[in-house]
Amino acid sequence: MQIIKTQIDNQNLQPIIQKNKYMSQIKSVGILTSGGDAPGMNAAIRAVTRAGIFAGFKVFGIYRGYRGLITDEIEEFSTQNVSNIIQRGGTILKTARCKEFQTPEGRQCAYDVMKRRGIDALVVIGGDGSLTGARIFANEFNIPIIGLPGTIDNDLYGTDTTIGYDTALNTIMDCVDKIRDTATSHERLFFIEVMGRDAGFLALNGAIAAGAEAAIIPEISTQVDQLSELIQNGFRKSKNSSIVLVAESPITGGAMGLAQRVKEEYPGYDVRVSILGHLQRGGSPTAHDRILASRMGAAAIDALLDDQRSVMIGVKNDEIVNVPFTKAIKNDKPINQQLISTLRRLSI
Ligand code: ADP
Repeated sequence: MQIIKTQIDNQNLQPIIQKNKYMSQIKSVGILTSGGDAPGMNAAIRAVTRAGIFAGFKVFGIYRGYRGLITDEIEEFSTQNVSNIIQRGGTILKTARCKEFQTPEGRQCAYDVMKRRGIDALVVIGGDGSLTGARIFANEFNIPIIGLPGTIDNDLYGTDTTIGYDTALNTIMDCVDKIRDTATSHERLFFIEVMGRDAGFLALNGAIAAGAEAAIIPEISTQVDQLSELIQNGFRKSKNSSIVLVAESPITGGAMGLAQRVKEEYPGYDVRVSILGHLQRGGSPTAHDRILASRMGAAAIDALLDDQRSVMIGVKNDEIVNVPFTKAIKNDKPINQQLISTLRRLSI
């Protein structure tokens, strides 16, 4: 990382950069949010914008993900554009899923818009799919792109956590606390379905945080029949209600699928289903997610100044790391086996 001397011009509050001869050729950077939204994306947009302006870049907000890059829905951002957003859920840039970007023609249009606008580099905030698109685009046109892991699912490899995951986990915990009140009163077995795509992080840690009896997660579903294991272990023995968190996934069968199985295979249980759905994406980000997004956003600008490209910013043991796109998106992030054991031991 090169040392860049900055001094603040007090009148405009704009930094004046003394660029050294090694400094990156990048003069302007575009930011977009793509795929599923996650709380903390706004904090990340704010951090990239402000750190970018501080470094002397022009910063452009690109609306509706890759679609806005193709249709030129782009606005130059000042520090004020990102005022008063750190506490807001969702994304002020909007997000979208864009099929056209999956075609070479669509990506050519996006590149043409970037050139016309004079945007030299991109920061893409999104999940696995968005970073896959970023990797392809960066390779095709030799564009510096930095990714930020913006997803509640926590399913990106090379980072301990992702922007939005902690907030979603807290939302799940609050919901399960409430469902437990009714579950206990009626002596019911509740299957609560949570998001996570094909990853069990939200279900497993949500179960530990809410004191649930079990979590049914895709990482284990292929190895054992978790439902029959639960029933055979007599998981209701000492309790008058049971709460099981289920990761949404064809592999687990989802909460509905499991409830149906209980009705057919283990009649006698008073079983109910609750699917938490989109409320898990909403809400004001937690302090953890705001700080994570702020650190990662600033680190994305550092990475560009350091001539890094095609890397996702991650956090490992509380240190910022740069993870090559190929690693972040290709590998399945392993679930911590200790967590599985902890949940089992604490739910007796
Ligand atoms: P997420 O980023 O939350 O995983 P998606 O999987 O829906 O969300 O991906 C978001 C967008 O990223 C897609 O709509 C598409 O525009 C882009 N994208 C995903 N996969 C690819 C791909 N293989 N090639 C090009 N673009 C892709």
